[in-house]
Amino acid sequence: MNYDIAVVGAGPAGLSFARSLADTGLRIALIEKQSELALAEPEFDGRDIALTHLSVRILEDLGVWARLTDDDRSPIEAARVLDGQSPYVMNIDTKGGKPGVLGYLVSNHILRRLLFVEARRFDNIGIHTDVAVTSVTTDAARALVSLSDGRRMESRLLIAADSRFSETRRMLGISASMYDFGRVCIVCRMEHEHAHERIAYECFQYGRTLAVLPLTGKCCSIVVTAPMSDKDSIMSMDADRFNADIQARFGHRYGDMRLVGRRHAYPLVAVHASKFVTRRAALLGDAAVGMHPVTAHGFNLGLSGQNLLAGEIRNAVARAAAISTGSLLQRYERRHMRSTRPMFHGTNEIVRLFTDERPLAKLARTLTLRVANRLPPIKRAIRNRLTEIPLR
Ligand SMILES: Cc1cc2nc3c(=O)[nH]c(=O)nc-3n(C[C@H](O)[C@H](O)[C@H](O)COP(=O)(O)OP(=O)(O)OC[C@H]3O[C@@H](n4cnc5c(N)ncnc54)[C@H](O)[C@@H]3O)c2cc1C
Repeated sequence: MNYDIAVVGAGPAGLSFARSLADTGLRIALIEKQSELALAEPEFDGRDIALTHLSVRILEDLGVWARLTDDDRSPIEAARVLDGQSPYVMNIDTKGGKPGVLGYLVSNHILRRLLFVEARRFDNIGIHTDVAVTSVTTDAARALVSLSDGRRMESRLLIAADSRFSETRRMLGISASMYDFGRVCIVCRMEHEHAHERIAYECFQYGRTLAVLPLTGKCCSIVVTAPMSDKDSIMSMDADRFNADIQARFGHRYGDMRLVGRRHAYPLVAVHASKFVTRRAALLGDAAVGMHPVTAHGFNLGLSGQNLLAGEIRNAVARAAAISTGSLLQRYERRHMRSTRPMFHGTNEIVRLFTDERPLAKLARTLTLRVANRLPPIKRAIRNRLTEIPLR
């Protein structure tokens, strides 16, 4: 139970970080409270993750992208944003730029499965399942982790990647700002009559928002956000009524729509840690920043963050230097904060504005879409921020 790096949480962030460092020879432990079977065969959880171009590049490097079939990855070629009951549409596409795709949708359970397949290939990655972390301490010499089965683990560096409600973050004494939107996000898949032309829709309606995201064939991922008080009625609505409701809210654009499988609900709580590092420890993924899903950036930030930290560690290994110095960890924190802070606060402001239904806010919503739509530099900036298309 002696490792170079102990990672708490084998979710997409923890798995991708371990895989990123697999060929350094470092001994890495992944500690996960779920079973090995749940990691090897994760169930569909309703989330279809919109991946930016930067994320695709990182997943290529991790060997995951090549493992996806064409059916697993659905390109998005344009995005349309609507507000209230207005037919006005803000359109985002890649016109005049390359590549012709804004991003790709890949199901979260497929990403988890393939990241696990990749991590399991390496002997220097030890995967400890069915155990939770009960306490952590770090000192000048090492990090110590106690596990729920009574074992203790010692490492040079400790990583908390155990979700936005991270217990490890708390045990490390790192505070976090939490925004409970008092809303719920309900996700599911629906089949439909007409083709979606690879267009993603975000409809900021009054009372609810509805995102309709294009998957392979005549199928889409539905994301409804609504006040928490509406959760039970939406989740228990019989399929026929649910189909008719979504169809009407979407203006019958795709003709008949039909629920496929179950609906899944997630409370909308956004989290940003006050710092990402402390002595011999760092936060990754949602444990560092848990985003509201409207800008589809949670896992994208998790991937870029683990890429930054893994890059710093690789450089240290190449120089035969220490992998957990304060200066190394602070470089990661500085660089990652630079991208997460504006994205986190910007996203929360968008959510606040587009869920505000007072008359002045409605006017501001209308104007925001029209101004952004008509000013090419603003639109380009939004597009580049959302898609991370490499600058040319
Ligand atoms: C509805 C919805 C839609 C989304 N859409 C997008 C999108 O389009 N694009 C995007 O980029 N992101 C999106 N996200 C965000 C994305 O799903 C998350 O950012 C991502 O899953 C976070 O990964 P993670 O590994 O940090 O955390 P998690 O996925 O939460 O994994 C944490 C892991 O840690 C384990 N764990 C927890 N506590 C302990 C403990 N004490 N001991 C051991 N193990 C522990 C858990 O079992 C779990 O396996 C969406 C999220 C939601 C809810």
